[in-house]
Amino acid sequence: MLTCAAAALLAGLVSITCWITGATASLQKVFVLVPNSGADDLVVPGRWLGVAFILVVSLAVALEVERVGARRALPYLGGSFLGLAGLSLFASWYFALNILFIPIALAAALSAALIQVKRLTEREREFTQKLSSSSWRVEAPKVDGAEPRLLSGLKLLETVLLPNEAIVFRKDSDGQLVAAARMRSTPSTMEAGRNSAWREGVSFCERAIKHSEMVVDKPDSGEGLTSIALPLRHEDETVGALLLRLTNEFDEEDRSLLAAVGGQMARNLQREESHKLARTSSPVSIFSTRGSNQKLQSLYVLNGALLEQRVGLNALAEVGDGVALAYLDGRLAHTNSTLLALARLVPDEVRNLTFFQLLDSFRTDVFDEPVLAVRRVLQTGEPYERELHYTERGETYGMRISLVFDNVNGSTKPKRSAPQPLGLCLTIKDLTREKELEQLKSDMISLMSHELRTPLTSINGFAELLTADDDLPEQAKEFVTIIANESQRLSRMINTFLAVTKLERKDRQEVLKIPLRLDEVVRETIAALQTTAKKRRIRLVEQPAQKLPPVAADKSMITQAVKNLVGNAIKYSPERTTVIVSTALEAETVRLVVEDRGYGIPAEAKDRVWEKFYRVVREGEDKDEESTGLGLSFVREVVEQHGGSVDLESEVGRGSKFSFTLPRL
Ligand code: ADP
Repeated sequence: MLTCAAAALLAGLVSITCWITGATASLQKVFVLVPNSGADDLVVPGRWLGVAFILVVSLAVALEVERVGARRALPYLGGSFLGLAGLSLFASWYFALNILFIPIALAAALSAALIQVKRLTEREREFTQKLSSSSWRVEAPKVDGAEPRLLSGLKLLETVLLPNEAIVFRKDSDGQLVAAARMRSTPSTMEAGRNSAWREGVSFCERAIKHSEMVVDKPDSGEGLTSIALPLRHEDETVGALLLRLTNEFDEEDRSLLAAVGGQMARNLQREESHKLARTSSPVSIFSTRGSNQKLQSLYVLNGALLEQRVGLNALAEVGDGVALAYLDGRLAHTNSTLLALARLVPDEVRNLTFFQLLDSFRTDVFDEPVLAVRRVLQTGEPYERELHYTERGETYGMRISLVFDNVNGSTKPKRSAPQPLGLCLTIKDLTREKELEQLKSDMISLMSHELRTPLTSINGFAELLTADDDLPEQAKEFVTIIANESQRLSRMINTFLAVTKLERKDRQEVLKIPLRLDEVVRETIAALQTTAKKRRIRLVEQPAQKLPPVAADKSMITQAVKNLVGNAIKYSPERTTVIVSTALEAETVRLVVEDRGYGIPAEAKDRVWEKFYRVVREGEDKDEESTGLGLSFVREVVEQHGGSVDLESEVGRGSKFSFTLPRL
């Protein structure tokens, strides 16, 4: 407002001065009609009245242009100009009155122009600031400048080309080449800026810059060094040159590598230039070339960063898993070739697909509502993971849908606010081979167990026969009893192996499901294990829920699962502790919980205890315990085949709480 009034005052004063000094008098004559006497006979408003009138018009125009902008104010201003011109002609002709048309029009035009320039400058400043802050954000200036990056670029070249000497030149403000980074493997003959070898190198680089291409200079005699100079260009601007001296011959095949590394060096040099400009720049105005230069440099930095960011995306082509990225509107941002192969799509097909349509190509029985899965990810922020089986293709994929968060600031600065989600990520891992191997392993165990069973039965049978033989000496009898007991133990373990492998082969549909009361299973299990518990001085109690609905299940399988859980609770608890088995009704399911005050399970093993053959190694563990690492994997397999899920809460030294749910009837 204040600047507006000042601009209006300035425009008014200029115009008043012109009027009073008579500078506009000749122009004014064009806009008056003089019927009988000369123009000088016209009545002119008093000086103060004229001044006030000019200033008011000037201020009104300034306010209007400030409010709506010059373009939108133009029709009104043009109309008023024409109207006022007509009025001037009429008033001079009819009333012999000079309404000061020219000074007023001059004040209005000047005022409008000043305000417009002010508005432009403000926008310009805002734009420049935003642009340079964006470029700073993308590429925060390092305190040590571009040199470390240039040096690491030179090191990369060194591994391939083995140069004796490599120098990166930067163009200074006068257009002279100065060394920005240098690397040498042997003592150099070149001394910076001094001797003729240096000057020769510089002029060689200048030649490359002049021709805008790489120049190679081979020694005539076949001895001496090969020199290569490469102009460093970024965004059509030469920012420096790279000079290499090699003992070996330059292999033409390395040209493209050199050009690519040169491009990176140019971006690094250019980035440094931009930061230098930003540090030293004066307040920006639209009339300053330095300001325009700064904007241009910021733009180069942004373009360079965009190019470098493509590294991340294009690296996905090298990843073994299928990856698709989508924006939050569901449009696909990127898909790698592995994903296309897994989804059985060709690149042309995927161009017009949305994230949901892409997910459709992975539909199976466990993943039949992709929209629901995505909704869950968006609502909870938690990844969605599933194992997808395609029976007809004989393939298994591991799928994961997750949110991608913006961690540009998060990685370096303390997080001020929660990271913003930027998009969705789908990863598909082909687990077919892994599953095949697992199957192979389980088949082999099953085969071996079957083969072992026959000789074991004979060993056990004969050993038992011998134990009954009273003619045997005492010691032999003792040994035979050990053989009988151990072979029985071995046979129990083999039976567990076989039970698990058999279960794995079963299809979900094959499980026999009849109405079953879980509290009854609990009661029977507790009765069966009470003696074992007593032996270990463990109190085994039941805590049944009131009015528990039945579940649809295979009784023998579920009973075995509960037995495994309760057996473990007894096995992995010290004496004089309590094991509680409880049942509870939840929304759609019935839950069974086995809680102990035992040794507990370390956090890192919590997920793994459900795996086959996984055992937690504990110090001072009773080695005689019959342990296969199969008990819990059997529980999980049974529960999942019944459409339920398993859960575990545990704390080392405090106890564990194993539970599972089954759908209620
Ligand atoms: P096994 O008991 O035959 O070793 P499981 O699959 O039943 O095999 O259990 C796997 C591992 O989980 C066991 O080695 C044991 O260390 C641990 N574990 C199971 N149940 C408990 C429990 N209630 N308390 C502490 N550790 C347990």
